[in-house]
Amino acid sequence: MIRTEHIGIAVKDLSLSIPLFEKLLASPCYKKETVESEHVQTAFFKKGDTKIELLESLTPDGVIAKFIEKKGEGMHHIAFEVEDIEVEMKRMAEEGFQLLNQTPKKGADNKLVCFLHPKTTNGILIELCQEIKP
Ligand code: ZN
Repeated sequence: MIRTEHIGIAVKDLSLSIPLFEKLLASPCYKKETVESEHVQTAFFKKGDTKIELLESLTPDGVIAKFIEKKGEGMHHIAFEVEDIEVEMKRMAEEGFQLLNQTPKKGADNKLVCFLHPKTTNGILIELCQEIKP
């Protein structure tokens, strides 16, 4: 684990949440990206070394839409940057954490990602992410 890379926040409507977070953080949204595989639209902010990722569902039955239905808008996951995602996934599995995907997936922001099931992590959805090196 290198650091907390970003905090993911589930929102209903990016067109309302982007200006809200721009006001809150006094920083502009620097990137918007669609992640087709997850059916989400994302918007990124940066504060120091850590980013905030806002997530809006593109479909009514997407994971973010379902999350908001159950828990309302709010914190969705914490992402930790790792040096080598395969090594870290193996370590997590050996430690008894349940991986939600068995091979790294392509996430937003040029990352390979893997999620850990919240039932094995004190209720917090954890994302491991590794920068895709050119
Ligand atoms: Zn994330």
